[in-house]
Amino acid sequence: MTPEPLADISSEVVEIVRDLIKIDTSNYGDDSGPGEALAAEYVEAKLLEVGIACERYETTSGKRQGVNARIEGTDPSRPALLIHGHLDVVPAQAADWTYDPFAAEIHDGMIWGRGAVDMKDGDGMILALVRAWARAGIKPPRDIVIDFLPDEEAGSIHGSHWLVDNRPELYQGVTEAVGEVGGFSLTLQEDVRLYLVQTAEKGIRWMKLRAEGTAGHGSFLNNDNAVTKLAQAVAAVGEHKFDLALTPTVRDFIKAVSDATGVELSAEDPEALLAKLGPIARIIGATLSNTANPTMLNAGYKHNVIPGEASAMIDGRFLPGFEDELIKDIENLLPAGVYREDVVNGIALEVPFEGKLVDAMAAAIRAEDPFGTPVPYTVSGGTDAKAFSELGIACYGFLPLLLPPELDFSAMFHGVDERVPTSGLEFGMRVMDRFVRSS
Ligand SMILES: [Zn+2]
Repeated sequence: MTPEPLADISSEVVEIVRDLIKIDTSNYGDDSGPGEALAAEYVEAKLLEVGIACERYETTSGKRQGVNARIEGTDPSRPALLIHGHLDVVPAQAADWTYDPFAAEIHDGMIWGRGAVDMKDGDGMILALVRAWARAGIKPPRDIVIDFLPDEEAGSIHGSHWLVDNRPELYQGVTEAVGEVGGFSLTLQEDVRLYLVQTAEKGIRWMKLRAEGTAGHGSFLNNDNAVTKLAQAVAAVGEHKFDLALTPTVRDFIKAVSDATGVELSAEDPEALLAKLGPIARIIGATLSNTANPTMLNAGYKHNVIPGEASAMIDGRFLPGFEDELIKDIENLLPAGVYREDVVNGIALEVPFEGKLVDAMAAAIRAEDPFGTPVPYTVSGGTDAKAFSELGIACYGFLPLLLPPELDFSAMFHGVDERVPTSGLEFGMRVMDRFVRSS
């Protein structure tokens, strides 16, 4: 049974999300961003105001701060649930936006601003939820650890990865976690709405391709030109169509979409599947197979000199269990004289779409949206889940949000005119309250 949400559960979520957006927490990949510590101070004050003890912590410098709190549950024998969000955002160029990205103005029923969907919406929901409980004297069924983290947008080195390495005691007894990127709605037709629950995350293999050749004068014959070889390799990798990788999440996703729409979809025909999904296909399309995109090129130093070496950077992403295939496919594409080197590796994640926690998500969604069906999906990027999974925590992306059908949610992640409907946030609060109190 999913509990009825508290009457005032969504009374302050809009105000808190707006406050957080107004604190510019742009992460430039170094300590130059001014905002994370200010946002952490804001969160700390909001928790202390309602009597929730918390720790505002520093990671690698005084500028990189976050807030952690443990809310005691009614059953201390049960393992704890972590609910986490990141406080930083990617920078925004105000000139590109319809409204000031750090003013959090409300237009057409939506809050506009950087972080409206990634992820001050989620931060605001977590904060508003525990404040409402504190005011009503509600204890969750088990210990809830909440964490508002720095540095997710630059790889979490000064955030969750640092915390997992240096402050693991904060997550003592935690077996499951929810955070970004999931729980948002995708309306396929009037009476079919999917809620995408993140159960898997692609792994990262950033690599360098290095071509070796014979250096020489640009006016001579040269059939061992490093630039030519590199160009062949880059074109081959960039144009390669990777095979569909049927992970459990991809299989469950296809089945759930087929069931919800009544249209038989098959993994054999990914084009038909993607056509059914609309704009979100941009995200989902990248989660059905490995990918590798050339992103940087480096060769030569003078117009009439053939260099002895040329290199390219490749952003490779693999589905859980398909890492070896990615490497094998790339190496098979390389002509003689071109070598592959590893630059950055990140693990892939996958958790089962079943069990008490998933049941609680599904029941909470259905109670608030009779046309809603939760479906599992894979995120193509990386999140703080990569760090927390190192502690053996099963990580899900679930911060529920009801979105208007015409809103292209995927375009707003790190995009311009990021915005979130206030009614969607209020819906999300009701689902969150039901979900966490029955988790
Ligand atoms: Zn994010």
